[in-house]
Amino acid sequence: MAVGCVVGVDLGGTKLLAGSVDSDLNVHHRARRVAQGVTQPALIELVRDAVEEVIAATPHKVTGVGFGIPCLIDRRTGTAVMAVNLAINDLPFGDVMAERLGLPVFVDNDANCAVLAEHRHGAARGADHVVLLTIGTGVGGGLVLGGEVYRGAVGAGAELGHCVVEIDGPPCQGQCPNRGCLEAVASGTALAREARRLAEEQPGSALGRALASGTAITGILSTELAHDGDPAAREAVALIGRRLGVGIANYVNVFNPEVVVIGGGVMAAGEMLLGPARREVTARALRPSRDVVSIRAAHFGAEAGMMGAATLAMEGIAARGRAAA
Ligand SMILES: [Zn+2]
Repeated sequence: MAVGCVVGVDLGGTKLLAGSVDSDLNVHHRARRVAQGVTQPALIELVRDAVEEVIAATPHKVTGVGFGIPCLIDRRTGTAVMAVNLAINDLPFGDVMAERLGLPVFVDNDANCAVLAEHRHGAARGADHVVLLTIGTGVGGGLVLGGEVYRGAVGAGAELGHCVVEIDGPPCQGQCPNRGCLEAVASGTALAREARRLAEEQPGSALGRALASGTAITGILSTELAHDGDPAAREAVALIGRRLGVGIANYVNVFNPEVVVIGGGVMAAGEMLLGPARREVTARALRPSRDVVSIRAAHFGAEAGMMGAATLAMEGIAARGRAAA
């Protein structure tokens, strides 16, 4: 079955990455957009514009488009019901984009796309039970159970970022009504918050000097300063890693996965994040699950969502081809 080239689109809480991907997973053109703070109609136009840029710059015929969107999706209707970190409410996203683009469109949650990519082609290849967390603006969750992506009754499951790890913890982000969710304490947003606190507490640190000079203390800056060896920045990253480990210990006990894959922008911290997470899992999870699980960085890094959206489109086109045959 030849699917040629497809476009994979990863729409995150703050930015969009779209790329044309062929069946050998070569990426021919990438387009990036900032998606923060835009209204729903503006977001639709921004997505269409990015996909059209990629199609125009790709030397091969594009046969379909896959979207990973940070939304709770009702697969009965294909509706993006709500997003914690984006202005999307009850939007028939697939129908709207198919109409705008005139191509077959496939839609799934962004973390479901990431776990699909890692399971089919990446860090969890060959595993049947996989937990994936993407640590970015929020904390996305994806599950492969028994070799298949697990989505729950209507497609809104696997929201691993919205499991509570601190009963009286801080309010969660955006439209989540809960508090103390993993997303509230271990996302890139939480990293920036902890880094600001440590910058104030340790004014002589590189983080503290950055704050004093008026530099915005972001998750990206914290990760960079941690790589440079700043103790305050390392402390912030390690704190996020430990909290992540508390969440992972829960998932290890519930799902008994062979592999836990960690992706998203905050994984730029690498072992400074994963080391503390692994130690928490060793201290908290039950045997034998604790002893069989491997906690790994995502193979596709920040491109896992895009590659997964492309994989979703390729598999969707192939399935339609089989159904029509
Ligand atoms: Zn939440």
